[in-house]
Amino acid sequence: MKEILLAKCGELVLKGLNRGLFERAVMDNIKRRLAPIGQFSVRSAQSTIYIEPHNNDDIEEGLTALQDVFGIVSISRAAVCRKDIKEILETAGQYLTKPLSDVQTFKVEAKRSDKQFPLTSPEIMNEAGGKLLSVNPHLKVDVHNPQLTVYIEIRDFGAYIHAGRIPGAGGMPIGTGGKAVLLLSGGIDSPVAGYMMAKRGIELTAVHFFSHPYTSERAKEKVLELGRKMCRYCGRLNVFVVPFTHIQEEIKRCCNEEYFTIIMRRYMMKIAAQIAQNEGAQALITGESLGQVASQTIGALSVTNEAAGMLVFRPLIGMDKEEIITVSRKIDTFETSILPYEDCCTVFTPRHPRTKPILSHVLRASEKLNEEELINEALDGIETIGLKLNN
Ligand code: ATP
Ligand code: MG
Repeated sequence: MKEILLAKCGELVLKGLNRGLFERAVMDNIKRRLAPIGQFSVRSAQSTIYIEPHNNDDIEEGLTALQDVFGIVSISRAAVCRKDIKEILETAGQYLTKPLSDVQTFKVEAKRSDKQFPLTSPEIMNEAGGKLLSVNPHLKVDVHNPQLTVYIEIRDFGAYIHAGRIPGAGGMPIGTGGKAVLLLSGGIDSPVAGYMMAKRGIELTAVHFFSHPYTSERAKEKVLELGRKMCRYCGRLNVFVVPFTHIQEEIKRCCNEEYFTIIMRRYMMKIAAQIAQNEGAQALITGESLGQVASQTIGALSVTNEAAGMLVFRPLIGMDKEEIITVSRKIDTFETSILPYEDCCTVFTPRHPRTKPILSHVLRASEKLNEEELINEALDGIETIGLKLNN
């Protein structure tokens, strides 16, 4: 029996001019997500996307993968047949045996968007209800509180029979929300921050500041592995690995210790903003959360923020660590994030960081650094790594 996946897009945004853009983006993202699994035909009509595997064996894995694609609110796995009532009843009888064997009560809902079809929706419901009762004698119809609702949909391309919808990832399709640069460390927070903004339709580019040899090749590998895991949701991901050691050494050599972290964070912002500009991105994204560490107090964040000179998204700002960890587990980055390679060397962590830094003092403390030269040197040393989903 031929099966298909029907994906429903968010209705609210499917208005006016945005609709075509939205649907095209969802379809592109679906195709990209399914490419490593097998061949699928993807087409859309009436705010539903039809995803048909060329090989029926790919349907299960396809269904799982579709749950990662933003812009889809629900998915159903359905049997397809011709728009012929006899064939529909026959298919329904066979296809629904398994789900119906687990319940005692059911009802049928029918929807006829193809008005050429000779039976009305109530007629289809009656016929199908009768057929399913006759092949499943243990069942009773319960229209108010059924254990299972089965759906028969008569649409443009054919008739579809299924036993319900599962939730999709929600959000907006990647690419419809613009582009931003994610500051990606090896920790728990930044992959979650990237995921949350990708969910709003943002296309991500990642920047990682690498402090070799204070941090090892394996620490970089860990960041790349996080990036690869994020590809499930964000599609492809370019990671710019920025050599950061010289900047950190210079900060240590020239600046007052209590400002190390804040000055370092300002350099990260400046370099990321420069990369954003080169990449045509309109914002930065960090995993900062208010009060989590000394550099994330309201005062420290304002001083850091000032260096960015552009919009900075901090989607975790009001979240507790526990809440962040819950998302991190959900998106499957947690286990990688807690692997024991640190991303920021303790050599550069001050013993007593300033929690209430004052911008003018920070600027004075970093006066001796040759900012332009250091930043250009870092930008010149960038290594770019293109990531795709493992599969
Ligand atoms: P995370 O869990 O994301 O590492 P954190 O709680 O350890 O965050 P910080 O180390 O202060 O907090 O970093 C705050 C944010 O700054 C990170 O979420 C990330 O966006 C960015 N960041 C920190 N270190 C790096 C790095 N080496 N490369 C790129 N971005 C970084
Ligand atoms: Mg960190």
